[in-house]
Amino acid sequence: MKQIYKKSRILTDAFTHYCAGCGHGIIHGLICEVIEELGIQKKTIAIAPVGCAVLAYDYWRLDTTEAAHGRPTAVATGIKRMRPDLIVFTYQGDGDLAAIGTAETVHTANRGENITVIFVNNGVYGMTGGQMAPTTLLGQKTTTSIKGRKAGIEGYPLKISEMLAVLDGVCYIERTSVYSPKHVLKTKKAIKKAFQNQIDKKGFSMVEIISPCPTYWGLSPVEALKRIEKEIIPIWPLGVLKDV
Ligand code: SF4
Repeated sequence: MKQIYKKSRILTDAFTHYCAGCGHGIIHGLICEVIEELGIQKKTIAIAPVGCAVLAYDYWRLDTTEAAHGRPTAVATGIKRMRPDLIVFTYQGDGDLAAIGTAETVHTANRGENITVIFVNNGVYGMTGGQMAPTTLLGQKTTTSIKGRKAGIEGYPLKISEMLAVLDGVCYIERTSVYSPKHVLKTKKAIKKAFQNQIDKKGFSMVEIISPCPTYWGLSPVEALKRIEKEIIPIWPLGVLKDV
């Protein structure tokens, strides 16, 4: 039988701790494929976040370090400045990157650090029980916005990619998703470009990936994918926000 998919050898066989229908596993796989195709496994250092992906190092054969909550881009800055020959990337959720780590994210981007950032946006705090995140949509119910997020009380969803795209230090920002095979392939292409930019010393590159969290959206895995297409993409349009 013809083999149509070959798993990256960088991806481990660890039993997943992610919920059924979660997007993290797909995105881990894409990162591993890209790193293998670029031939940079031995010189890549990953920075894992605090959040559902805190155990990311279990799933890939890459040198990986943890950062305190929200601080991956600061840690990445230190590593990259000491060892500019290495390829350094952070893997962060919306709580890590766009809430507690907002300052680090903004200033790392503004300095134009030559790193790659993978930003997984599912609009909710998964690890801690489904609380509202900065990227939670208006009207979305979470355990801390039980009647739905209201602009007058909790403020508006934070457009972190749009915010960063106006900074002079930023080279590349694209928003993608993994709700269909076509978009999984587009996401892989964007991740590859974000790593290639670093190899070419172009500066700060980030891919924001709209990802399903069926558990805290209160939906089945299939319903979660439909929600991305019908409810989330109209609010967070996909595409390139900056490409210098
Ligand atoms: S809580 Fe959500 S983001 Fe976390 S592992 Fe489960 S589905 Fe994924």
